[in-house]
Formats: sequence, C-alpha cells, structure tokens
Amino acid sequence: MVSIVLVSHSLELSMAVKALAEQQVQGRAVIAAVGGSENPYQPFGTDPVAIAEAIEAVYNDDGVLVLMDLGSAVIGGQVALELLPPELRARVRICSGPFVEGAMAAAVQASIGMDLEAVAREAEEAMQAKIAVLRPAEEPTPSPSLPPDVAGVGEVATTDRASADVLVVNPAGLHFGPAARFVQLAAQFQAEICVTNLSTGAGPALASRLNRLLALGIEKGHLIRIEATGQDAEAAVDLLARQVAHDVARYGYAETPALTSPAAVDAEENGVALLWGQPASPGMAVGDAVVLADPHPLLAAPLERRSAAPFDLQREWERLEAAVHSARSQLETLIAKVRTTLGEEQALIFHAHLLLLEDPDFLDEMRTAIRGGASAEEATRLVVSQWAQRFRQMSGAIFQQRSVDIEDVGSRLLQALGVYEPQAVELPERAIVVAETLLPSQAAMLDQRRVSGICTAGGGAMAHAIILARSMGIPAIVNVGPLLLESVKSGVRLAIDGARGLIVVEPDEPTQAMYAAAQLEANAARAVAWAQAQRFTRTADGIHVEVAANLGTVDDVERALEAGAEAVGLLRTEFLFQDRRTPPDEMEQAEIYARLARTMGERRTVVRTFDIGGDKPAPYLSLPAEANPFLGWRAIRISLTMPEFFKAQLRALMRAAVEGNIHILLPMVSTMNEVLHVQALLAAAANELQAAGASFRADVPVGVMIETPAAVEMADRLAALVDFFSIGTNDLVQYTFAADRTNERVANLYDPLHPAVLRQIDRVLRAAHLQKRWVGLCGEMAADPLAIPLLLGLGLDEFSMAPASIPVAKQIIGRLTMPTARRLAQKALQMNDGDSVRNLVRKTMEGIDVV
Ligand code: PEP
Ligand code: MG
Repeated sequence: MVSIVLVSHSLELSMAVKALAEQQVQGRAVIAAVGGSENPYQPFGTDPVAIAEAIEAVYNDDGVLVLMDLGSAVIGGQVALELLPPELRARVRICSGPFVEGAMAAAVQASIGMDLEAVAREAEEAMQAKIAVLRPAEEPTPSPSLPPDVAGVGEVATTDRASADVLVVNPAGLHFGPAARFVQLAAQFQAEICVTNLSTGAGPALASRLNRLLALGIEKGHLIRIEATGQDAEAAVDLLARQVAHDVARYGYAETPALTSPAAVDAEENGVALLWGQPASPGMAVGDAVVLADPHPLLAAPLERRSAAPFDLQREWERLEAAVHSARSQLETLIAKVRTTLGEEQALIFHAHLLLLEDPDFLDEMRTAIRGGASAEEATRLVVSQWAQRFRQMSGAIFQQRSVDIEDVGSRLLQALGVYEPQAVELPERAIVVAETLLPSQAAMLDQRRVSGICTAGGGAMAHAIILARSMGIPAIVNVGPLLLESVKSGVRLAIDGARGLIVVEPDEPTQAMYAAAQLEANAARAVAWAQAQRFTRTADGIHVEVAANLGTVDDVERALEAGAEAVGLLRTEFLFQDRRTPPDEMEQAEIYARLARTMGERRTVVRTFDIGGDKPAPYLSLPAEANPFLGWRAIRISLTMPEFFKAQLRALMRAAVEGNIHILLPMVSTMNEVLHVQALLAAAANELQAAGASFRADVPVGVMIETPAAVEMADRLAALVDFFSIGTNDLVQYTFAADRTNERVANLYDPLHPAVLRQIDRVLRAAHLQKRWVGLCGEMAADPLAIPLLLGLGLDEFSMAPASIPVAKQIIGRLTMPTARRLAQKALQMNDGDSVRNLVRKTMEGIDVV
C-alpha cells in the first residue's frame, strides 16, 4: 500500500491533517506527519533531514507520496528527496496537490490499494472536486475539468448488471466522510461501480475515484443512481444503497438525519421482518421487546379540573411552587446518582433540566398562565408544550432533540402535581426497550443488568437518552419510524445490531444464534476488562499507581469494588442527605460513614466534608441565593461559619474511623487559615468525644482539595499542614479560566488539558512530593483517556473517578511506561493550548493498544 508523508511548517497542522485523514479511512493508510522546528521561540519551519527520515520510516515498495503545505516545505520536500538513497528515490513522488484536500484524497485511494500514480493523480485533482461543488448554480453541472469517466456499461451481459436509485438522507449529503466510506465499500467488489446524481444530472462517476464522487455535489434530498456491472453487481448495489440510506453511524452522530421512511431491506439475517433505523449505539443483542407507553401524557390526555372548589390564584401558584420544589430535589438525587455511576458529563444532562426548572422566563410564563385562570397543571402543560414546540422548530437536529428534555421536565412537574403516577415497568432479563422516544430520565433509571437494547421510532442519536444509553454500553437504534410500534408488541423476540441500525423481528434460529454469540463475545471481552481491573494497577514497567472511586452514595461502593477500585478517593457527603429537610445528626452520619469504612476495610476511604453551595444545594440549610454562587459562600466556608453543624460531621468521621481507613478531605480550601481553623475544630471535636466516652480515632489523616488557584500557589505551605492533597480539576479549571463549569456558552474555555491547568498540577505535585505527601486527582479529568498518560507522567499517585470508568483507566495505565509518560508530560507543559496537547497525546498513544 502506498504510504503518505505530510509536511507542514507546523507539526500541529500536519498532525491534525494526519488525524483527520486517518479518521476518514479508519486507520487503513500509513501516514507520517512531519514539520515545525525544535526551537520553542520559532516553532514554525521544515527540516529536510526530518522529512527524509519520515519518508524512510514509512517506505515500502508500493511507494511514498509526499504532500507539502507551502513555501519552504515545498523546497524542503525536494531537498529531502536528494538526501534519500537512490534506490528509494524512484518510488517517492513529491506531489503538487493541495495539502488538506490532497491528503484526504490520497489516504482514501491508498486505503483501497491504488498504485502510486493513481494516488498522486487523485491528490493532484483534489481541488477540482471542491471547485465543482462550489461553482455557482447557473454554471453547467458536470465539472468541465472532471469529465464523466464511465464507459462501456452497456457492453456487459444484463445479468451482471444492477442498479438502484437512492434518496440521500444524510444532512450533509455525500460529503467527505460518507464519500470516503462509499469508495472503500465499493472497492470490496469486483464490479465496476458508478454513481449519477439524478437530481442535478452530474455524472456518472466511478465509485473508485473519491474526487469524482465528491464533484457530483450530492446533497441531502438528492436522488442518486448507483449502477454496477460485473459478477457481484447485485451485492454491491445492495450494500452501497443501504450504506447511503443509513450512513450516519460513523460520521453522523452530530448531524442526525431525519429519517422519515425506514425501509425493510433484505439482509443475511432472517425473521418475520427486518426494520432499519439510525445506528445510535453499537452492539448486538437478542431479547424480548418491552414496549413503553408514550412518555408524553402531558401533550396527549386532556386535563380534568381536579377540584370543584372555585379557582384560587394564590393556591394554584403555591401548588406549582411545591411541585417545582419536589421536582428539583428529585433531579438533585438523580444528578448525584448519574454523576457517580456514569460520570460528570452525563450528570450535566440533568443539570440542564434543573436550570430549566429554575429559569425565570419559564416560571414567569407559568405565573402568567395561572393569572389568566389556568390551574397549576394546565399552566405546566401549556408552557411546556410551547417551549418544546419552540425547540422543535429550531434549525439543527440537536436543538430539536432538546425538546424532549423540556417534556421530560414537564412530565416530572405533572407527576409532582399528582396528574399521573410514574409507570413502574417490570423488565424481564435481556429486555429490548421499544418506545416512540425515550426521556432522559427514563434512560437514566434503566436497570443496565436487564436492558440489552433500545429501539425508538423517533428520536435522534444525539438525544440525551441515547447519549446515556451509549455511556452505559447499551446498543441502540433510533428513528426506525412508525413501522416499529406497528410491528413490534411487548414479548416479541428481537435481534438488534446497533452498529448497522438493523432490527430483526422474530428472528429465525440461526439468526438468534448468530446474535447471541456476538453478544456473548462482547460480554466476554467486557468481563476480561473488568476481571483484569481487579488487579493492582501497574504501568507496563511495573510502577504501582492507585485507581480509586468517586462515590455519591455509600450504596455505590459494591459497584466500585466490582469495577476494580483500590480505594475510595472521594465520597461526596453533600449528596447523602439531599432529600432531607433537617440536617443529618452526628450518629446518623457516623453509621453511614462506618458502613462504608467496614466495607472498605484497610483500603483508604477518603470522605470529603460537606461541599455545599455552588451547584450543590442543601435543602436542610436554606441557604440564601447568591449572584455568583461559585464565588460565594460554599464548601469549607459554610462549614467554618456553622461550627456546631461542622463538628457533628467531624465527630461522626472520627467515630467511623475506628471501623476502617477513613481519611478526611476538606473542599474548596483557599487559605492556610482555613486549614488551621479546621484543625482547631478537630481538636475540639476530639475533646468532646473524649468527654462523652465515645470510641473514636483522633489521628485521622486530613487532606485538602486543591481546586482554587490560591491553593495551587500556596501548595508548598499547605503541604506542611496536611497529610495529602486531592486535586479537584472540575473546580480548578473553572477558577483558572474564570469560566463557570455549568455554563455551556463558555464551555470552549473550560479545558482541563490546557497547559495552564497542567502546569498547576505539575506545581502541586512537585510541592507535595518534596514534603513526601501523596496527591490524588478526583475531577473528571482523572478518567479522560487523553489526560491519563499526562497525569501519570506528571507523577500523580492516585486517580479517582466514577466506578464505570475504572477498568479502562487501568488498562490505559497498564500499557504505558513511566519514561514514555514523563517525556509526554514534559512536552505537553511546553505547548500553547489544549488542542496541541491532545494531538501530542494521540500521537504518543498511536500503536499503544488501548480498548
Ligand atoms: C472537583 O472540583 O474536581 C471535584 C471533584 O469536586 P466537585 O466536582 O464535587 O466539585
Ligand atoms: Mg469541587
């Protein structure tokens, strides 16, 4: 296979182009990226020696194509050629094609085994495809520089010919990604395949030539004809037609198409019917359908006035306020659950629900409806359907799918108002949930052990419910259309393939066996990862680092141990009592902490004192609303101004410490005085326990969370006061960039992999290690596969994360050596931004086999 060398003035640029090309061909091309200079003050440039080395590194007898960006890169490429041994030179082509487009075209053509000349020709022609697509509409359709290239279709026996007309449903048409995939699929067949854009008259174009295909300017809604001639023509047309109809699996999660007419298409599988939908979460499963009722009772059933009493405006408003209050605490509990089981990112989905519930406009509109004579239920239904409708009418599938979130909040409110009882659905083993759409809260409550798959008639792959299903590893197919609920009733056996979007209704025995075997294999692979997770975490060169769990409830500890947690790195105690109206007392707390300590035994169990405030309310404290809650009265600041409340927690922890290896962690510390103040309270609490004759430990290790830049600056002094640190990057990142962690508008600034954050982590680790203190990190970053190698290289001692992330994190650590990780981390500290760091990590992790 022809190899490709990309030469740019900027290493980041050539690496990014390489990554893009590799993504398009799913790694099926050998590409080297080279560029930039070693001089940190002048990072742009090209070095002919480095180019020659890159060519030699990927050289093979099929040849090497070299693509350059501009200026000295072009000269550098030519000089590099001179530096090569003569026997290699003959099979190296310096190509004049455009850098980005040429690289993409060359990668696709190389990946299907074209020779050097053909690959070079496609790279050189790559601009023509763009020109053809961008030409003004009034110009004649087929590009003058790309003549139709199909001849001889009529010379083949009719039996060897097949064709199909297909409507393109992908919102971006047959743009680069789907076109590249089309070319690769077409290359699997002997038949000569060509495509014509029937909507514009462009073509026919050979399906083996990416540029020709792109130049057809195929857009969403265009009708195209796929024709094949040759032995396997029929199979080729069948596969390619299905590919065009459903090509969203790889490229389309972010560009969800509105599939309106799912088609039943023949496949190898057999059953009573085959249904096709949009692939949304990969995996195969066999199971019995459980059809859920329509989750929108609020839009369907008319509401009855619940009481004959005369309308009382004040009473209706108070009922609504009470419902909002109860919906809010349900959501807080759900956020805590999702945060610990699936992670912070997934919990943000319900955070958005909370924000909607508190949105002043949303509440104002309901108030206005009540003033106009609507009951609390009617006001909810009216405003929720108006808001949902507004989102549905927005352009962009992602916004449209947010309407389901609004309805989810609406049904929660109606439930709180007593309009309907939530339906408890009994799920059998291996259930395949079938529904019109799935609400995010329904998805979050699914019992992962019982649900083998999800199929919805509507919805999209970026719907929050499906994002949750993906993070739980449940195969899912969406947008199947009305046929789904017409042909599938509860109890019907289904076999589903989430990667292809295929549902086999009442599959025959061989199909069931095939799907069950695939499911077993996937489960076995997962079981291996989980079984290996039970081992101690060691790097490939034998260094032990600890992988621990973040918990939001004590009940999650079993799951954490099952996932291979070696310790509890963070118990968020503020989540334990969220459904309470009165503060928890000392003995109640002591029992809960002791239960955890007993389960964990000698394993370290880090319990964080209440981190209330910011985005974590405590109904039992009735805290005042603040303009800037993240910069206000929160965490240790609250605890220190309520010493009796705080001491009850400290005493409870000292009591529980008798039962296991409890460590106390203090949140949001920004000054040394705060720590000194806590130490005084700890001493007072110990005296009180002593006086009460309690059994307790006074020497519980104490650590601080490093989550403010002030704590980073003072890390050397703080290290002298405490036993350990835990870096809270969720907060540290927001305070570093002054970007609220819950505000989507500034999410682009919130970058944990930015050197501004990495440098702070580096400083904290150095300061702590100098004084022989260990350091953990319990922000979401600890589980990020791209962050793990960096944190390892910086010398982190403990990675603490949601239990579900532990097995993969352990595998990543197990495949790295410390020298590799250290070198990587040191380079990352010198980078300019987060994207460069990410590219650097990706490059280093290439060839390191990680699931
Ligand atoms: C953090 O800030 O990184 C952290 C772990 O604490 P929380 O997310 O609970 O604020
Ligand atoms: Mg925090």
